[in-house]
Amino acid sequence: HLAREQASTVQQYDAAHDTGAENRLELLGDLRRAIGADDQLSLHYQPKVCLATGRVTGVEALIRWQHPRLGRMAPDRFIPMAESTSLIRPLTAHVLDIAVRQAKLWAERGTPIPIAVNLSTRCLLDPGFAGQVFGLLYRTGLPAALLKLEITESVAMADPDRALTVLRALHDAGISLSLDDFGTGHSSMAYLQRLPVDELKIDKSFVQAMADSRADEVLVRTAITLGHNLGLSVVAEGVEDEAAVGALRALGCDIAQGYHYARPMPPEEFDRWLAGYTESLTALATRN
Ligand code: C2E
Ligand code: MG
Ligand code: MG
Ligand code: MG
Repeated sequence: HLAREQASTVQQYDAAHDTGAENRLELLGDLRRAIGADDQLSLHYQPKVCLATGRVTGVEALIRWQHPRLGRMAPDRFIPMAESTSLIRPLTAHVLDIAVRQAKLWAERGTPIPIAVNLSTRCLLDPGFAGQVFGLLYRTGLPAALLKLEITESVAMADPDRALTVLRALHDAGISLSLDDFGTGHSSMAYLQRLPVDELKIDKSFVQAMADSRADEVLVRTAITLGHNLGLSVVAEGVEDEAAVGALRALGCDIAQGYHYARPMPPEEFDRWLAGYTESLTALATRN
């Protein structure tokens, strides 16, 4: 029985992890169909919490793919693959569409919550990208202030000037920009200073390691100082326990995101979580 279980695990592992060209092409085809299918791709939402007040300041939208044969596929497995082809464009358009509709729904219910969407560098090299986002906002009537876009330092690599033009257009329209996975890239300080970003997100690898590693703690501390000196709000991702919350608060970090508060959740579950969280926050405030 165990042997059979192991065999089927291995089989599934191979099918999903095989990086061979044939398998890759097959997965890309599956992903292309998933974008059209509307029942395989969804967004989960993870709250971002203000460390000073405990309030939820927004959510990050994270894609989920329920593959019809292979089951749940982690974004780290299919996003990089999509990014290496033009498929990332329709995929990003699809994600933006779902996210903006969700943001609109929350706003209409009287609980406006800014939604952050992850962008691939490739989108920023498309001169028409900003126009597409504006079109979407116009069609749905969502205020630009309720949409955030997360970019990574790799924008520096490909074609910095072209990417900067797109980023400035988005930013000038009132969409706030966030620099994701800070600390893992190779961008220069000069480039960072030119980026029209409002927020810096420290990569979870440093946040998770800072309790046990002096070097990681120094990096987190330095990133917070750098962000503040550039006038940015600083977010720590991968906040998993109360100790991390305390340490980050002591370092003056602005916002925390991580399993300590909540995992990324489907929208209905997020609504329930938020109701409970807000209630406990209010109870805490009235007790004092
Ligand atoms: P990211 O943008 O840095 O997102 C944060 C990742 O950390 C998410 O992984 C999230 O589930 C995970 N995370 C959050 N809190 C914790 C924590 O306390 N502990 C740990 N261990 N992990 C935590 P996820 O959802 O697997 O996404 C991985 C990456 O895939 C994202 O990293 C992002 O780069 C990419 N991605 C996800 N959704 C999209 C999308 O819609 N479009 C694009 N282009 N990329 C996406
Ligand atoms: Mg992100
Ligand atoms: Mg990140
Ligand atoms: Mg990441």
